[in-house]
Amino acid sequence: MTGLGPPTTKLDTATFANSLVQLARRDPGLPVPNPTVSSWQAEPHRLANHQSPNLPSKVSIAIIGSGMTGISTAYHLLQDSPDLSVTVLEARSLTSGATGRNGGHCKEVPYVDYAELKTLFGKEGAGKIARFRLAQLDALFDTAAKLDREVMEESMLRRVEGVDLYFDRNIFQEMETKRGSWLEDFPEERDRWLVWEGEDLEERFGAVNAVGCMTGSAGALSPYRFVCGVTSTLLDHDKYPNFTLETNTAVESITVSGSSDRPYELSTARGRIVAKHVIHCTNGYAGHLLPGLRDKLFPLRGQMTLQSPPPSFPRVGDKKSWILHYAPGFDYITQSPLPSGEIYLGGGLLQALLTTHIEEDDIDIGNVRDDQQSEEPLKFIERAIEERFKDGKGATVINKWTGIMGFTVDAVPLVGKVPKSISGRDPGTEQSGSEWVAAGFCGHGMAYCWLTGKAMANMVLEGEENVGDWFPREQLACSEERLGRANLEDAVASFMQTVA
Ligand SMILES: Cc1cc2nc3c(=O)[nH]c(=O)nc-3n(C[C@H](O)[C@H](O)[C@H](O)COP(=O)(O)OP(=O)(O)OC[C@H]3O[C@@H](n4cnc5c(N)ncnc54)[C@H](O)[C@@H]3O)c2cc1C
Repeated sequence: MTGLGPPTTKLDTATFANSLVQLARRDPGLPVPNPTVSSWQAEPHRLANHQSPNLPSKVSIAIIGSGMTGISTAYHLLQDSPDLSVTVLEARSLTSGATGRNGGHCKEVPYVDYAELKTLFGKEGAGKIARFRLAQLDALFDTAAKLDREVMEESMLRRVEGVDLYFDRNIFQEMETKRGSWLEDFPEERDRWLVWEGEDLEERFGAVNAVGCMTGSAGALSPYRFVCGVTSTLLDHDKYPNFTLETNTAVESITVSGSSDRPYELSTARGRIVAKHVIHCTNGYAGHLLPGLRDKLFPLRGQMTLQSPPPSFPRVGDKKSWILHYAPGFDYITQSPLPSGEIYLGGGLLQALLTTHIEEDDIDIGNVRDDQQSEEPLKFIERAIEERFKDGKGATVINKWTGIMGFTVDAVPLVGKVPKSISGRDPGTEQSGSEWVAAGFCGHGMAYCWLTGKAMANMVLEGEENVGDWFPREQLACSEERLGRANLEDAVASFMQTVA
């Protein structure tokens, strides 16, 4: 077994970059059995292992994946057309992927990647993506308002002050420059994104050795409970007579069926199912059934912990969430709004990758083993509360788990119709049926997935070009042109430059 250590010479850098490329290119395969137990799922939802007595043999729309994207797509399809036959196929238990294993932030800080997006899409395109991401939290609240009160209570959906603490001066200054560029183009946003320095850092934010802080509005929730709650409303057969949820039903392969009205055949261990439309909501695993994506979208494993705060640590989970920025890397924190104030803390990834020696099997890039911990990142995040907060001494890890994200080479999700070069199958038409993908949320899905599902439903029902202008369709499209531009080697090389 070989390992990777932090590169110190040009030659090391080239070998390191090449190894990352090879890891990212692997077939993600199907989700592995027996994943680590995320605290969100410690008490499984009553629908966790729900399936029909028999797999339906034909449907109009087969959605693969029951994360926030897949369930939002099903929800929005059925709000428009309650009689539509829709089935959601999930390899493991309901919402057991990234959505059920994440950090619980629904947070968009638009200036973080605005400059990069502006280079790719111009001011208008970049602004459109930012507005779309900023709209997610309101959209979650709007949906929750239409559902049982229980969903809102269980998911603990809340608005918080998003606190970004910086522990490295250069990184802080870089972010101030980025914020400045955003505000230059959108001056009306000035009062929304604040900067703090000096004594406020310790007094107001309780931080130790921070050099600066930026705040803005954000949200937090249990995405697992939210998505499972929505799913339970879809299983009301009086309202949605043709919806089914098939957990523990991995789609192993897709072939062209030969039928004109349902051109796709999906194979599972429980039998076959033919569908008019297939929607891939498999995020980090998308490259398995869409082999042409393996060079464009890769899985990345993330590490989470649940930590018990020491008695003196403030219980402010109903008011705040945090991101701690270092050179290199970052950690992210939400806190339970309940009096226990348990801390959900994840990250450690870049700190470990760029400063320690990691055995190749343990590197998180291209890694789908969420049945294992990410040992090196864990060492960083286990001590973050103690080291970074004045009242943090004595924080203890209660649980730890991993999850699989999906990253695209150009750092923007892929949402739209799948071209033949990606699936190897006939792309079809909206009339005959098509394959669609919504994946690659780059570790930021709570600020994308809910409204992406709405857009996907609109596109499938009304035609790709007829989705509302609120959705950045052209920027996110899974087009040949975009995929042709996305080069994995170049992306890794530019990543190496930014962290050098
Ligand atoms: C540790 C961690 C922390 C994160 N923290 C945050 C955060 O705080 N805020 C934020 O915005 N984002 C966060 N993210 C990212 C966010 O969780 C994802 O972007 C988002 O959940 C993606 O949702 P999804 O529905 O597209 O994918 P997923 O939730 O991953 O769902 C995809 C589903 O597809 C299923 N599947 C895959 N292949 C098949 C197949 N062949 N057949 C059937 N089913 C299949 C999987 O089992 C899975 O359930 C985090 C992710 C991780 C892993």
